[in-house]
Amino acid sequence: METLFAAVAVDVRVFDELTYRVPEHLLDSIQVGQLVHVPFRNQRKTGVIRTLSTTPPDFDPEKIREVLELVEVEPIVEPAFISFLNFMADYYLVPFSEVLRVAVPSSIRTDGAKFYTPIEGATVPRDLVDIFESIPSGGEVVADIRKRSGIIFSKLADLESAGAVSVTYLDLAKVKEKKEKFYAAMDGESEGKLGAKQREILAYLRRRTEPVSGTELRGVFDNPYSSIKGLLTKELVKVWEESRYRNPFIDEPGPRKHVTLSREQELALDAILPTLGPDAFSPFLLHGVTGSGKTEVYIRAITKVLEEGKMGLILLPEISLTPQFVSVFRSVFNDEIAVLHSGLSPAHRFDQWRKIRAGEVSIVIGARSALFAPLKNIGLIIVDEEHDSSFKQEEGVRYNARDMAIVLAMKVKATIILGSATPSLESFQNAKAGKFTYLEMKKRAANQALPDVELVDLRESARVDGLEHLSEKLSIELTACIDKGHQSILFLNRRGFSPCILCGSCGHQWRCEACDVSLTYHRSQESLRCHHCDFIIRLPEQCPTCANKRIGPKGIGTEQLSDILSANNKKYVVSRLDADTGKGKKLNEILKQFREGETNVLVGTQMVTKGHDFPNVTLVGVISADSGLNFPDFRGAERTFQLLSQVAGRAGRGTLEGRVLIQTYDPSHFALQCASTHDYHSFAEQELERRQKFQLPPFSSLIAAKVESGRSETVMRAAHKWASIAKGFVRREKLSGVVVKGPATAPFEKLRNKYRWQVLLQGTRKEVRRVALFTQDAFEEQRGVKVIIDVDPVNML
Ligand code: ADP
Ligand code: ZN
Repeated sequence: METLFAAVAVDVRVFDELTYRVPEHLLDSIQVGQLVHVPFRNQRKTGVIRTLSTTPPDFDPEKIREVLELVEVEPIVEPAFISFLNFMADYYLVPFSEVLRVAVPSSIRTDGAKFYTPIEGATVPRDLVDIFESIPSGGEVVADIRKRSGIIFSKLADLESAGAVSVTYLDLAKVKEKKEKFYAAMDGESEGKLGAKQREILAYLRRRTEPVSGTELRGVFDNPYSSIKGLLTKELVKVWEESRYRNPFIDEPGPRKHVTLSREQELALDAILPTLGPDAFSPFLLHGVTGSGKTEVYIRAITKVLEEGKMGLILLPEISLTPQFVSVFRSVFNDEIAVLHSGLSPAHRFDQWRKIRAGEVSIVIGARSALFAPLKNIGLIIVDEEHDSSFKQEEGVRYNARDMAIVLAMKVKATIILGSATPSLESFQNAKAGKFTYLEMKKRAANQALPDVELVDLRESARVDGLEHLSEKLSIELTACIDKGHQSILFLNRRGFSPCILCGSCGHQWRCEACDVSLTYHRSQESLRCHHCDFIIRLPEQCPTCANKRIGPKGIGTEQLSDILSANNKKYVVSRLDADTGKGKKLNEILKQFREGETNVLVGTQMVTKGHDFPNVTLVGVISADSGLNFPDFRGAERTFQLLSQVAGRAGRGTLEGRVLIQTYDPSHFALQCASTHDYHSFAEQELERRQKFQLPPFSSLIAAKVESGRSETVMRAAHKWASIAKGFVRREKLSGVVVKGPATAPFEKLRNKYRWQVLLQGTRKEVRRVALFTQDAFEEQRGVKVIIDVDPVNML
């Protein structure tokens, strides 16, 4: 018999995979995807079989050791899925074991939490009787069996295949559920005097209408506990414990709405449904304006795929922002759904994983990591809001879940629907090139008009006293909207920091002529820089177009704006939704209050733009459309167009007509013009032309090398070194299709105490990949320097 070699991915940092010989007694049962034990130095390690081959590895065959045993007979990862993970490792230039770490929960990857129960009256193979009888009749955890009897996994696996034991998994969620303390103020006056800190904490708790977690209090006050203790004894505050993690389901299922499909929905389904039977890769781009009823299309498609006996996977950008989406699905599919999101504890996650793998559910809805849900027979993958940048993982394995979902659909021969009102240019270009079937829904499902959008020129508009961030027009319309008893959303795309700079009078922005991105303001050197090619100019003293001298970072934050609004008009009941307020329970509370009409103005960042459906919102205001255009990122215009279209899509979704006012210093910009006329096609055409001219994606591939170090000298030298190796290689190999840009400081030069530089490789996929691999290999590791390779980077900051 031929010798078989197994490449095994193990959890050992330095080695990605190790090769072992398969011992004869395992030849019949060994499979790709199984969990095995292998010797490593003088230890025993758990690993996953990545490939099996008869070709011996190219090192001394004498030195090859043998696989020790199988942990489980059934592969923990399907072989088709291993092939998908192999692709990912290869594509993102990361070790396979890292991909595995992302894809499979650690409790599964290591020894698992198997629980063996002997089956009474089973026929037990002779040589296993001893072991069988040693297991208590109530069952036992695998680790305990091993500790007690010293037996090896393959014996247990043999027992399992002989049908002598039943195997379940421990309910880790129950065992390890984390609790947290919550505090709330009680009514009543204090008798004795309170300390300053006690008063502060009490005031804080009174201001907040809902319980406050210990974690939050620790974040706001230093060492709050001794003060809280006093408040507890005085009975001014009460405390109790709650599970820290939310139920995987955030909303209760709503009632099922029965709708008659619109003509456009019907046409889309006519194209999709016939592909759900056969096992074939069928990709669709479903381009449907906001409110066109994409969800209904998804529901019908999922219904069909379940009828075919297959399963469905739905990826959403941020599940906690769209509880309504899940609740609509639950109203149709009930308990057939598992939900995966970042709010789940490891134990809950493990539980869901197990449930999915056991085939107890047939639909998985989740954020990007749901891509790795162990569904056995996927027939349909849906990526909703496919253009959203949060599908890109920004640490560890930097994968894009949208892109990998396409690869997965290819590997498992499934249908995939990418849905969006504003498709990414990558997907749109794929549709144009005939790689995806393009389906368009131009009308809203219930025939409501798309909202009327107007651009308000901030250079020319008057202001109302005390509200200088709102044009007179927006201010008047806001009052009118609230007076009518309607609601309004005000969108402010401003994060804490502002690397962009513009003329306060005419709105002029400075751009790099070579890279066509905005220049970034670096306060420490009073300079403007291009973070792609490191072009630098001094901070200008006056604007070249209008000679004005008011040049500087611009803007106002969400918090300030909500305060100003509340102070300005008593009828405004304002709530704020941003990364500071919109966490966990608080988020649902804010959305619920707004939905139920307890608040009438919702001020917020990107978070307000995502798929919400508030029928009573008739006015949407965009405080400034310019910050996105100013971002030092070649996708700035695309992001702005997407954001404006999404935020506009929140208006007039019910029976009332909607109106949108977009304030800007640059009303002639094509992204704003196209957003105001709901003209995606014209936007895409102009932007694609620009991308082609500058050879930017989707007309080229990018790989970024992000260099980080705690010392600015070191990082600069390392970045230059990396770039020069890359440039040398490109020259030697005559790779005419690659441009090496940089090194340049990143727009955020210093983040979390790390200095940051980057080098960009731009060109054909094959060649940039070669350059990155070679350079990364040739670049000598240096202490204190980290080089992160980001394939298809999304965050250019
Ligand atoms: P999208 O995701 O495309 O923005 P939704 O799927 O949220 O849109 O649908 C918007 C609204 O239209 C929802 O309230 C939905 O119930 C409703 N709707 C969907 N299809 C129909 C239809 N055929 N007739 C009437 N209303 C519909
Ligand atoms: Zn440049």
